[in-house]
Amino acid sequence: AEEVGAYLKRHRIKVTGSDIPHPVKSFEMLCKEHNFQPFVLRNLQKLGFKQPTPVQMQAIPIAVHRRDLIANAPTGSGKTLAFLLSILHQVHTEERVGYRAVVVSPTRELATQIHDHLRNLTAGRKLKTCLMTKPNAAMQAQDPSMRQKFDILVTTPLRLVHAIQNSEVDLSHVRTLILDEADTLMEKGFLEQVDEILAACSSSNLQISLFSATMPSSIEQMANTIMKDPIRIIVGTQNA
Ligand code: ADP
Ligand code: MG
Repeated sequence: AEEVGAYLKRHRIKVTGSDIPHPVKSFEMLCKEHNFQPFVLRNLQKLGFKQPTPVQMQAIPIAVHRRDLIANAPTGSGKTLAFLLSILHQVHTEERVGYRAVVVSPTRELATQIHDHLRNLTAGRKLKTCLMTKPNAAMQAQDPSMRQKFDILVTTPLRLVHAIQNSEVDLSHVRTLILDEADTLMEKGFLEQVDEILAACSSSNLQISLFSATMPSSIEQMANTIMKDPIRIIVGTQNA
């Protein structure tokens, strides 16, 4: 069998950090080795996803091991599926305690796409997902009893901070926080909102993952201050 180092190199995956979990070479391995639920594989097949992309190969096992992650991979490399599958390992049945995973994306358009993708992946499963963006905010705020019912939240930072400040959401059960397009989210303007979201995710067992196409070093330094012993992935042809 090919050595892990050679496998990573062939797929142009650079990974650094302590105790790095091995990459997964197929989606079947998610069930066989990492206890993913069969519905995940079924939906992947239905959607026509046959093989994991490089960022998915390495990011998913890191999430399974509950490690903080900074992942850089080019646009179009499948980062969305990488973090959605990471979430579905953790959150696969409804528990009615409130949100257990949150995806933060800088724009409503992106959040909507991510949520559509998530709906497809959870089809046929009793899991409640919520897309929280400005236009649909009023509808959700009406009914506080709805709050306990959702398992996974996809949102924009501004909308989520608004909900936190108005006590519309309880993020104390969140164990997985994804910051997508993290380079944008860690920039001035968004950073205060990210800080507020982090403060509201009060679980001591919070796992944080940052995904983006690029990560300027100043932003990476800042990112390191919010994470514990993160693993770093760079996919593709970035100059190190
Ligand atoms: P990124 O966020 O890295 O820019 P996306 O997550 O938007 O990229 O994915 C880009 C495209 O690749 C999407 O159309 C998505 O459905 C597709 N894709 C993702 N993962 C796979 C895969 N494993 N096999 C085939 N297509 C995939
Ligand atoms: Mg993306």
